[in-house]
Amino acid sequence: MMQTESRHKILRQTNQRKIILEELQCLTCHPTAAALHDLVKKRLPRVSLGTVYRNLELLSDCGTIQKLDFGEPHKRFDGNPTPHYHVNCQQCGRVDDVPMPLHPILEDEASIITHYQISGHHVAFSGVCPHCHGKKSD
Ligand SMILES: [Zn+2]
Ligand SMILES: [Zn+2]
Repeated sequence: MMQTESRHKILRQTNQRKIILEELQCLTCHPTAAALHDLVKKRLPRVSLGTVYRNLELLSDCGTIQKLDFGEPHKRFDGNPTPHYHVNCQQCGRVDDVPMPLHPILEDEASIITHYQISGHHVAFSGVCPHCHGKKSD
């Protein structure tokens, strides 16, 4: 009895994680846990924000997704684990991908200066998005 229950629980947890990952991978807006929770609730009405958050942490720990920190109170999550650059709007807070090639020369330079063995780097541009920029000139 106990065993069946725990197996059900594991199955439910695996299913929750799968749906959370699927929903995140559909998005390009780099949502916070709370924003993703609002979407996931449509498929899993009983899922809590804590569960969504825990699963996102777990998925980012194992490299399935990325956790992004733009100095905002809440971290954002990216369903695309491949390294890429980001740009962050300082007016509305949106985060977009910057589809330009990575610059491994930055890692060589950092390695020479710091004597670290560099394993990667993140670049986040900041500015004003076209939407906010357009509003300003109206
Ligand atoms: Zn904006
Ligand atoms: Zn991204």
